[in-house]
Amino acid sequence: MSTAGPSKQHLIDPGICIRCNTCEETCPVNAIAHDSRNYVVMVEICEGCRACVPPCPTGAIDNWFPIAPGKPYTLEEQYSWDELPAPDAQSVATTSAEPDDVARLTREATAGQGGPVAAPWSAEKPVVNLYNEKNPISATVAGNFRLTGNDASADIRHIVLDFGGVHFPLLEGQNIGVIPPGTDEQGRPHHVRLYSVASPRDGERPGYHNCAITVKRVTADHEGKAVKGVASNYLCDLKKGDKVQVIGPFGAAFLMPNHAGSSLMMICTGTGSAPMRAMTERRRRRMALNEGGELMLFFGARAQDELPYFGPLMKLPKTFIDINFALSRVPGQPKQYVQDRIRERHDDVWRQLNDENCYIYLCGLKGMEKGVDEAFRDVCRQHGGDWDTLLPQLREKSRYHVETY
Ligand code: NAP
Repeated sequence: MSTAGPSKQHLIDPGICIRCNTCEETCPVNAIAHDSRNYVVMVEICEGCRACVPPCPTGAIDNWFPIAPGKPYTLEEQYSWDELPAPDAQSVATTSAEPDDVARLTREATAGQGGPVAAPWSAEKPVVNLYNEKNPISATVAGNFRLTGNDASADIRHIVLDFGGVHFPLLEGQNIGVIPPGTDEQGRPHHVRLYSVASPRDGERPGYHNCAITVKRVTADHEGKAVKGVASNYLCDLKKGDKVQVIGPFGAAFLMPNHAGSSLMMICTGTGSAPMRAMTERRRRRMALNEGGELMLFFGARAQDELPYFGPLMKLPKTFIDINFALSRVPGQPKQYVQDRIRERHDDVWRQLNDENCYIYLCGLKGMEKGVDEAFRDVCRQHGGDWDTLLPQLREKSRYHVETY
């Protein structure tokens, strides 16, 4: 168990496994066995090398549970299962064969939730950690389109990556990792950067093995000092046909509900709109099914021409999505943030906060967390509720998801 660490146990999900024997054939150290009922992993032999993960056709192989030291699940237990035992929310949120860099970035991005949150009960089961730094997948750039106006201060790109017929299973809300080529000033390989997928699960073009990411060219740091972001500039400069090394998918909690009648409240700033675009597009492609549920979007940007996906969003019917823009730098107009629009829409926000079928997603600038938290607190107060009581309930029911950088 060296790669996964002594506190992680590799397990096979018997509820999904199709008993094809691929993992047992692939395992280089013979850590996988089976009986007539289940495939199991011998914890004392498994080295966490993950050689079995990419060939598994279902993703049943990719489970890494935290365990109390010295108390792994026994083979007897694994042979008796019909499904995996329910892991606690923390283990769902950080499926843990992921590289250290990715685990750290995920921890930082979800800190604003105030505690672990599992995926919605009806979310599709994600595949995670299929490709890693030792075994990346090579994607080809199928397009690189500027989303922001020519006069806009930000250069934001919609970059379509094609996996060349290789299935790269992704769900809305998941991330992929990109490894910029070359080395840093110390001669070390660059760290992986995470980007939310902006396409729905069936791809940017349905049926093709591709996905899009939303990338802003970084030209200044948080203090405004000029810097050239290594990964963002690399990605924004890519040309059609260029190759990119991709790892992932990552993320097992920031996922959309799958059940009919479920609603989404999406709150984002800037390129944090990527997962919201994926979720909205998923629902748009299924509009004719009349599955019910509402979409409510709060979207903050400096100005209209800095809003990624502004044009396509405006074409969506008002009955399909309730869009609330918050523009902060329009000459002659007061600065507006998403939290201001949340307060303005307090009646509907309060209704959605109390609807068991509504799931809430925040993505974008770290700074907006506090403002949004305060806006929800005000909405609750205005309606006789208490945010400090409600928030833990939302977390418990997997209804509050945060990913901010
Ligand atoms: P940005 O253009 O700097 O800001 C977007 C809007 O948010 C602006 O109107 C800005 O107003 C406003 N804002 C600033 N501080 C705020 C606060 N405290 N509360 C509410 N709104 C605030 O945004 P960006 O550069 O695109 O940044 C987006 C963030 O999303 C980045 O941190 C990025 O890492 C993250 N993200 C990206 C992805 C992806 O896949 N690309 C995925 C997840 C998250 P001002 O006029 O005051 O600046």
